[in-house]
Amino acid sequence: MTREPTGPAQEEKLSPEMAMEKPELYVEKLLSTLESKSQLIHSLWQYLVENDLVDKEIQLDGTTDVSRSTDHGIVMGTAPLSAERKKLMFEEENFADYLTEKAYILSHEISHKIAALIGSSETIEKFNNLYTSAIYFRKRGRGLSLHANQASYLEKGPEEQAKEDIVELVNMYLWDKEYLQRFLAFLSNPALKEARKKFKLCNLSEGSASNLFTVISESIEEFLKEKKIYGD
Ligand SMILES: [Zn+2]
Repeated sequence: MTREPTGPAQEEKLSPEMAMEKPELYVEKLLSTLESKSQLIHSLWQYLVENDLVDKEIQLDGTTDVSRSTDHGIVMGTAPLSAERKKLMFEEENFADYLTEKAYILSHEISHKIAALIGSSETIEKFNNLYTSAIYFRKRGRGLSLHANQASYLEKGPEEQAKEDIVELVNMYLWDKEYLQRFLAFLSNPALKEARKKFKLCNLSEGSASNLFTVISESIEEFLKEKKIYGD
């Protein structure tokens, strides 16, 4: 029996084992994947680090698939997403491999920091109106993302769910604008009413879906301009 040749370090695949054995390599690979998926989100990550708005060291937690944002940091749960949580990713099939799944989740955690900065900006006013709408929907049992339908958020109530909804919409935009557009088309396609009911998602008119996209897009673009951050 011959052993598989051991390739150079950079060819090792990201895995929960790597998180345990080589945490630095794990984080390095995650960040370079993020950069290849979305230059914009990577530039935002650099902005946060350079301005000391986030700990440069991303913490890893091998005991869970849940990642979280702390006051000044990010903790990545490195266990693969459970099937139940994976179903809460829109177009789940595009996140089939572990690397893309974790890069997208890291992008979500970065989006938490960005959404908070945009929300507290004095010049970008319309962004916070999104929370009012999101809370309104959540109080009626529907949401603006699949992500915030996780049981742990449902327990926390409409405000917390609404916050997660908005962060996830920001994340979708930063990851790929067209990804957000496809999701909003899903929320506003009259033929998909039953599917939305099943997934506890809002019904939007085409007009409000397009308005939602405009508010997210303009808020983010204004923020980027203000901070002189350039993505692609
Ligand atoms: Zn979140």
